[in-house]
Amino acid sequence: MGRLIIVSNRLSFSLAKDGDELVFSPSAGGLATALTSYIERKRATDPGFECLWVGWPGASVDESEQEDVRRRMGAERQAYPVFLTDQEIEAFYHGFSNSTLWPLFHYFPSYTQYDEEQFSAYRRANEAFAEAVLQVTRPGDVVWVHDYQLLLVPNLLRARAPNLSIGFFLHIPFPSFEVFRLLPTRWRKEILEGMLGADLVGFHTHDYTQYFLRSVFRTLGYEHHLGQIAIAEEVRSAETFPIGIDYDRFMEAAKSEEVAAIRARFEAELHGRDVIFSVDRLDYSKGIGQRLRGYEAFLEAHPERRGQVVFILVVVPSRTAVERYQLMKQELDELVGRINGAYGAVDWVPILYQYRTLEFTELVALYNLAPVALITPLRDGMNLVAKEYLASKPDGRGTLILSEMAGAARELGEALQVNPNHKSEIADALEQALCQSPDEQVRLVRLMQERLRRYDASRWATNFLETLGRVKERQGKLATRHLVGDVRRAAVRRFRSAHRKLILLDYDGTLVPFAPAPHLAVPDRNLLDTVCALAAHPESLPYLISGRDRQMLDSWFRDVPIGVIAEHGAWMRTAGGDWGLIKPLAFEWKDQLRPLLQFYVDRVPGSLLEEKEYSLAWHYRRADPELGASAAKELTDDMVNYTANFDVQVLEGKKVVELRNSGINKGIAALHCVALHAPDLIVAAGDDQTDEDLFRTLPEQSLTIRVGTIHSHAAYHVTDHREMRAFLRELTESSDLVHS
Ligand code: UDP
Repeated sequence: MGRLIIVSNRLSFSLAKDGDELVFSPSAGGLATALTSYIERKRATDPGFECLWVGWPGASVDESEQEDVRRRMGAERQAYPVFLTDQEIEAFYHGFSNSTLWPLFHYFPSYTQYDEEQFSAYRRANEAFAEAVLQVTRPGDVVWVHDYQLLLVPNLLRARAPNLSIGFFLHIPFPSFEVFRLLPTRWRKEILEGMLGADLVGFHTHDYTQYFLRSVFRTLGYEHHLGQIAIAEEVRSAETFPIGIDYDRFMEAAKSEEVAAIRARFEAELHGRDVIFSVDRLDYSKGIGQRLRGYEAFLEAHPERRGQVVFILVVVPSRTAVERYQLMKQELDELVGRINGAYGAVDWVPILYQYRTLEFTELVALYNLAPVALITPLRDGMNLVAKEYLASKPDGRGTLILSEMAGAARELGEALQVNPNHKSEIADALEQALCQSPDEQVRLVRLMQERLRRYDASRWATNFLETLGRVKERQGKLATRHLVGDVRRAAVRRFRSAHRKLILLDYDGTLVPFAPAPHLAVPDRNLLDTVCALAAHPESLPYLISGRDRQMLDSWFRDVPIGVIAEHGAWMRTAGGDWGLIKPLAFEWKDQLRPLLQFYVDRVPGSLLEEKEYSLAWHYRRADPELGASAAKELTDDMVNYTANFDVQVLEGKKVVELRNSGINKGIAALHCVALHAPDLIVAAGDDQTDEDLFRTLPEQSLTIRVGTIHSHAAYHVTDHREMRAFLRELTESSDLVHS
């Protein structure tokens, strides 16, 4: 692969002023640490690996100094700066990022600001990031954009560098659609389009991925198939990659003498009391108040524990420029003061509260000495503290109490999980943790440690980047050629020079647009003329190959000399010939399954049941799109179970679920036709999944055409039925046009 370009708001270090001099200091945070550990490991094992980090250096830099900073960052840090003014930081970072996106995506709509100016500033800052990336990228590079501050960047990059390999990762929750839709429509669209500029979009949990896909569907109308979203000429992918930590770093530190010394120093002050520990940035999403009330309820319910336990509450200053955070600090100070005042004694302070940043070794010493960690976010994209706590326990002793609202809860099922909104749940969990036997602690911690060790930060990054590589590969493989210009002229020439030509044409979506109900999609004069012209062309044998029933196709194409394959390949007749079954079929199953389908018709307004001789189809084109799609999933699921004992298959098409006898598909029927006519060229066109059977089955040199999407087993694609018809007309028009 080319170089890896990482793009994030903050870099892995910050720039600070030391007197008159600008100095670099390492910046904390899970993202920076996770990526740094990946980069270091990769550099150690792959000498050809090159990486460049693009981001804001963490301070505003005078224009006169920018060139110097840029040069130093490149040389000393393999980084490239995006310079932002204080005003830009205010509106983009403190404003839209942290006063709109952060609260909303963490389910705090009442804290969310909706300020048009701030959104504009956000867009401008994203443009500045994209511009910086474009200045440094070279062909073949892979760009990996991170987090909620840069949601628009992928699409800004895509617009200017269409072939670039772009990944995007969201490190905070993606909210459910009901919450996401609170954003003004225009912002909502721009944000989703922004993210979908990436080839691969990653989230920490399956739920976030699903919520994102649903918002994409509801807002932009793009459906997905197992996380694959087809957008015009490309397929994008959304998948889940829970971020890990640098497990070995914590484990080794926890075993180090330096940490042991710090731990001993702390313990001397704690007088053998059981420590309950928590550390987080000061943020309303972290549930610090709820945690303290839970602790208070615990002291209330268990007076015997007073004086025996101590809560070490470390709160790391964060976003102090945002008013909401200043307010929170006051509330927290008051709450701690009140609890300490109410329950403390001369020789015992219930909460040891510290408002500061910890050194890494201090942090590990606290993780290591605490028998209980109490981590209770109201909402958290992942929560690394929970994982770090477990990784700092070489002897496996300790109990993690974890909020079920943290992304990490999905992977840490052995933790004591609590709902942070219920103080009695927290109180009970504390008591349970303190009573947990050492054997049980070790058993549970070991299980979680093993998982964290295997899926560490480096593995997370590797996994994401490898998946991105595969998405790109798949795009390359599935990308069919657009049937225009020279490609189209060459196809027409092939047709003209062939002798015996078999032409297999799907009907709905391929020759005519979709109509609200199946019986309304009547062929127009122009189409009938086109088909007649094909039939009249020397040695050419056009066939309709459709999921529709025989009667309707017969009535529409009565006067046209064309062969027909109906019901997805159950029935066939040659031009002017009689209908015959391709293989003998049973249909008793229809009576048994019809009532179940009828139930879905009743439940989903606008949907309807189409009865064909050997199949049943439930159409939901006219139903509410989301209700229809979700009922279709349910129905498919139901039917797969019900049909286990029948010779019946369930097929999802475009806005339709169809049940029909197995062993029949358009591919098998086409082979039948090929055997009958022995053509030397086959042209086949279709627009949905059922036509893929056809494309897969036909000989490779066939002229196969997918309508509507480029991702197909077909060799070519056209945009819509109009383009398809134009191509068919061209096949039979006078040859000068073709050669012009
Ligand atoms: N951390 C830190 N400084 C401290 C205490 C903790 O940088 O004084 C680190 C901690 O080790 C963890 C990160 O901050 O890696 C917090 O990540 P988490 O996912 O728990 O929460 P976030 O702050 O990202 O919302």
